[in-house]
Amino acid sequence: MEHHNALQQVSLTLGNVTVAGFSISGLATYVQVPSLGVCFDMGECPLSSLSIDHVFLTHAHGDHARCLPRHWQLRRMLGNPKPAAYFLPEAIRAGCEGWIRAEAAFEGVPDEAVTTPALHGLTGDGALVTLPHRPDLRVRAFPVRHSVPSLGYTILAAKKKLKAEYLDLPGAEIARLRKAGTEVQVDAIEPLLTFIGDCDGATLLEQDHIWASPILILEATFLEPGDEALAAKKAHTHLAEIATALETLGDRVACQHIVLKHFSMKYPPERVHALIAAGIPARFRDRIRIFL
Ligand SMILES: [Zn+2]
Ligand SMILES: [Zn+2]
Repeated sequence: MEHHNALQQVSLTLGNVTVAGFSISGLATYVQVPSLGVCFDMGECPLSSLSIDHVFLTHAHGDHARCLPRHWQLRRMLGNPKPAAYFLPEAIRAGCEGWIRAEAAFEGVPDEAVTTPALHGLTGDGALVTLPHRPDLRVRAFPVRHSVPSLGYTILAAKKKLKAEYLDLPGAEIARLRKAGTEVQVDAIEPLLTFIGDCDGATLLEQDHIWASPILILEATFLEPGDEALAAKKAHTHLAEIATALETLGDRVACQHIVLKHFSMKYPPERVHALIAAGIPARFRDRIRIFL
């Protein structure tokens, strides 16, 4: 089953952004966005992820976290001198460091010789953090509901925008004002992309800012009508809950691309496509992309 091979990457072009990786529930999730220098989750570590300088771990479940140390080790092994930045929930930061130390001990490295990567614990308090290797980008972490501590991440661009009062002026006039020393621009922060690893359906309306991102990457583990209770029990999202969120928010959904991923292993690809086509309200169907 080729769609269960975690190193067989899926690639989607979403406007001027390409996302590539893999996401099937229980097997592995990693989603690389090379143009932003970020990878979300590291359930598998393909060589293509090694040039990415920022890794965002959503939660500790093995299919999302397993290869985080491998990313760090392989970069060093292959001579990349730039230390990558690893972001993760503060609640699991110490555990992650202990895990890396235990792995080193397992390999026979004496404790005093063990080095660990830069782990940035985030609490999901809404603070904007500048990406260490991309000063033009910020990340904002937010809590999502899952069976263990878990964060979603929004990547934002820091830009200069023309002040509202100058929007209608001709270019020559703006140039003249600028030359005269008038500050015609103002700082602006705009969301580019939001990624959620695993979460339950209630999160989608609780964290309704996610629908302002041009690109929104969501989990849709369960799709089949009748699997709603199973989804709730496992703190995963059911497709019907995504449909309800879309209908509830209506015109407030500003996303140009809504990527669905992390499908249960039990659905063959054609079933995934059929259930999503049937389950998403017609007016939103052309914005839905299937990461499979
Ligand atoms: Zn998962
Ligand atoms: Zn999980």
